[in-house]
Amino acid sequence: MKESTADQTDVQTAVTAETSRQQAHPAQEFGADPLTVRETGHYTNEYVKGFVEKWDELIDWRKRYESEGGFFVDLLKSRGVKSVLDVATGTGFHSVRLVEEGFDTVSVDGSAEMLAKAFENGLDYGGHILRVVHADWRWLNRDVHGQFDAVVCLGNSFTHLFSERDRRKALAEFYAVLKHDGVLILDQRNYDSILDNGFSSKHTYYYCGEAVTAEPEYVDEGLARFRYQFPDNSQYHLNMFPLRKDYTRTLLREVGFQRVETFGDFQETVSAEDPDFFIHVAEKR
Ligand code: SAM
Repeated sequence: MKESTADQTDVQTAVTAETSRQQAHPAQEFGADPLTVRETGHYTNEYVKGFVEKWDELIDWRKRYESEGGFFVDLLKSRGVKSVLDVATGTGFHSVRLVEEGFDTVSVDGSAEMLAKAFENGLDYGGHILRVVHADWRWLNRDVHGQFDAVVCLGNSFTHLFSERDRRKALAEFYAVLKHDGVLILDQRNYDSILDNGFSSKHTYYYCGEAVTAEPEYVDEGLARFRYQFPDNSQYHLNMFPLRKDYTRTLLREVGFQRVETFGDFQETVSAEDPDFFIHVAEKR
C-alpha cells in the first residue's frame, strides 16, 4: 500500500513535470497531415520556445558573423544608410549587428516569442536595448510610423508567406515604410535548385559544425517542408513557400521597386552556380 502510494506520487510528479515542461515548451502543431499546412499565419506556431532556444544555444553568433561576412553592412554603409527597419528580427542576430555598426535600428517581428528573445539577446550581446515592434508585415504601417533608409528582411524569412496576395501586401508595406530613395534587402534560400534538380539536390545544410542540420523533407511547387535536427535527436519543422528567384524579382518590380539586383551567396555552397542563398537588393528610386 505504502509502495503504491509512493508510485502514485512518482507518477503524479512525472505528469506534473511533463505538463509544466509542455507549458513552458509547447510542441509544434501541424495537425494530422502536415503537408496541408500552407498558411501565412502559421509561422507563429512554428517558432515555439524549445526550437528557438535550442537554435540560439547552438548557433554561435560569432561564427555566424564570420560566415555571413560584411555583405549587408557594407552595402548599407556604401549607400549612406542611417536608419534601418529589420522586419524579420527573429532572435535578434541582424538587429544586434546593425545596432553595433551604428545604424539607427528598429526591430519588427510578428512573433512575440521571438521579440522577447531578441530583446534578451540585445542585452546579453553588448547591453543593447533593442527598439522592438510587434507587427505582422501585412499590416506593418499600422504599427510602424516613420520612414527608413533601408528595410532588411533576412534569414530566409519572406518564405513564410503562403499566398501571392500576402506577398504583394507585405512588399507594398515594406515599400511604403521606405524613404523615397530607400532600399530593401531581402534574402531567400535557393529553392530553384531544390525544385528543379530533384531529390539528389536536397543536400543537408549543416549549421555550426554538425550541431544543427536542416534537410528538405518534402518539396512541391507550393510547399518546402524542412526538418531541423539537433544533437539530442529532437527535431522541429518549418513549412515554407519555395520562392523561385525570378518570381521574387518580378514581384519586387511589380510592387514598384525600380531596380532589383540579385546576388548569390557563395560562402557555404557546393558550387558558385548553385548558391544556397540569393540576396535581392531592391531600390525604390
Ligand atoms: N533574421 C533572423 C535570422 O536570420 O536569424 C530571423 C529569421 S526567422 C527564419 C524568420 C522570422 O520572420 C521569424 O522570427 C518570424 O516570426 C518572422 N515572420 C515570418 N512571417 C512574418 C510575418 N508575416 N510578419 C512578421 N514577422 C514574420
